[in-house]
Amino acid sequence: MFKDFTFSIIKPNAVRTGRIGPVLSMINEAGFEIAAMKMVRLTRFQAEEFYAVHRERSFYPGLIEFMTSGPVVVMVLKHDNAVEQYRKLMGPTDPTKAPKGTIRAEFGVNTQMNAVHGSDSVENAHKEANFFFSSFEVY
Ligand code: UDP
Ligand code: MG
Repeated sequence: MFKDFTFSIIKPNAVRTGRIGPVLSMINEAGFEIAAMKMVRLTRFQAEEFYAVHRERSFYPGLIEFMTSGPVVVMVLKHDNAVEQYRKLMGPTDPTKAPKGTIRAEFGVNTQMNAVHGSDSVENAHKEANFFFSSFEVY
């Protein structure tokens, strides 16, 4: 139905506080199709690889601690123009700047614990989906 997809993570703060269901509801209501999904606990190695582009940033060590602090839900989401549409549904990195009705406004705690990840480009969506899923796991 949709040819475009994005990759998303429901982050540990949202999983820990029972927000998997509410986040998935928002994703479904916004018209995304869940093409792959699983709950995993990231290893330090996986988290460091996944966020390697931020390696030199001051927030990187804290981000790795946070992302390995508990289970996460990783997903491939299909939608027309999925990357851009999902960034819009998430809202900006800082939840205090996120418009009402976005996932981060609803479930983000602060700039680090902002509830969800979403790919920032089509190229990264492919890379990130391949990092977590084999082609047999994506529908
Ligand atoms: N992050 C953080 N402090 C910052 C900026 C980012 O802890 O000052 C974390 C936050 O969890 C964010 C992730 O690092 O979602 C990746 O940062 P990016 O700039 O790529 O933001 P995003 O694309 O997730 O909005
Ligand atoms: Mg990003």
